[in-house]
Amino acid sequence: MSAQSRSTLEWQQLDSAHHVHPFTDPKALTKRGVRVITRADGAYVWDSDGNKILDGMAGLWCVNVGYGRQELVDAATRQMQELPYYNSFFQTATPSQIELGQALAEVTPPGLDHFFFANSGSEANDTVIRIARHYWHLKGKPNKRTFIARTMGYHGSTLAAVSLGGMPHMHALDKVLLPGFAHIMHPHWYTLGGTLSRSEFGIVAARALEDKILELGPDNVAAFIGEPVQGAGGVIDPPETYWPEIQRICRKYDILLVADEVICGFGRTGQWFGSQTFGIEPDLMPMAKGLSSGYLPISAVAMNKRVFEAVNEGGLLAHGYTYSGHPAACAVAIANIRLMQREKLVERVREDIAPYFRARLQELADDHPIVGELRGSGLLAGLQLVKDKAKRTIFTTEDDAANKCRDLCLDHHLIMRAVGQTMVLSPPLIITRAQVDELVSKVKIGLDLTARHFGLG
Ligand SMILES: *Cc1c(COP(=O)(O)O)cnc(C)c1O
Repeated sequence: MSAQSRSTLEWQQLDSAHHVHPFTDPKALTKRGVRVITRADGAYVWDSDGNKILDGMAGLWCVNVGYGRQELVDAATRQMQELPYYNSFFQTATPSQIELGQALAEVTPPGLDHFFFANSGSEANDTVIRIARHYWHLKGKPNKRTFIARTMGYHGSTLAAVSLGGMPHMHALDKVLLPGFAHIMHPHWYTLGGTLSRSEFGIVAARALEDKILELGPDNVAAFIGEPVQGAGGVIDPPETYWPEIQRICRKYDILLVADEVICGFGRTGQWFGSQTFGIEPDLMPMAKGLSSGYLPISAVAMNKRVFEAVNEGGLLAHGYTYSGHPAACAVAIANIRLMQREKLVERVREDIAPYFRARLQELADDHPIVGELRGSGLLAGLQLVKDKAKRTIFTTEDDAANKCRDLCLDHHLIMRAVGQTMVLSPPLIITRAQVDELVSKVKIGLDLTARHFGLG
């Protein structure tokens, strides 16, 4: 049945009768009624009332090449006609799995040339946990099992990925998490830096890793994991001193380093991977979202030589998913990578559109009374909302300025996301300068109305 065949009200009634939504407060949903998105093209989506809305989030940080790219659709169609499914267990492979490994090796940083496939970022991180522990077992250090991650880190929504992540409201759902996970502070200078300079704070935040390793004992720690730029935690780009110090500490204590590239990967920060932007040399690199631009679900874990060689010598790898390397998803991912290469999308982000996007947002942030700082990297941006700019006073949860601003932006046909009291943007990499102008002027309207609401504008 086509989207046009039902009214918005009918969709809403059917939805609330049968559909349980992720990351949604059911009461708030019932009050407002679900928004039904029926089609999309380029950087825009349309809802069931026919409104054209600029998608400032590229779906959930994933539709990097934009909507409506026929070659991704064709790649899926061809693959599904020829071979809709076969698995990669038990010494079998399909051509698109094999060729995706080759395409990925072209774009990942040197030395990360071996890939395990899964279907989501969460599954990729569960894979990382199992492989890192397997690695240390094979190396004769079976006690190296604990993962160190960061507060406000996001690594997915399976029980292991939630335990790995540092999201308080997600931890609260479980009450009890899995053992074997520890957390250190997130490197957010604006809220935690106090009187330190940015670069001093970067070192202090990184040294929290060393303290935690010494507390747990280096012989008990398997790995450190971090997003190059924390996404769902509020777009936190660390000071430039942070990652080099983390890298040094991991090497000193022989701890595996994992860069969670699920958001930063595939051009978002102006390089193929955030690790390249921030000078990280990870041992393991989970990726998802932009890998297929969200057209079909797929994820991968890249391993360096050290990890790959151990795993390769280590006997049966008793791990995998029915849809690991789903042929159609692999075909779409290959088409996505080839399209990004042909259109030079990563170079475009780095040299043209991200500098423009950031300059426009920086002007807005500098001038606006309720914006404390602009954060992020490339086409990943966070605007910190504040009640008092000079004193760096952030709106409280009760004020909830960010959700107010998000709703106001949506009324003006822009999708932004609110994380804590930060407004977040992650538009498709194909966004044009004219569309950036449209986006910034809509953000400004949302901010102005929010400021007025709180008597600050
Ligand atoms: C979205 C995300 C995940 C989880 O991916 P899913 O596909 O939703 O399981 C993991 N890590 C990071 C950094 C993410 O942003």
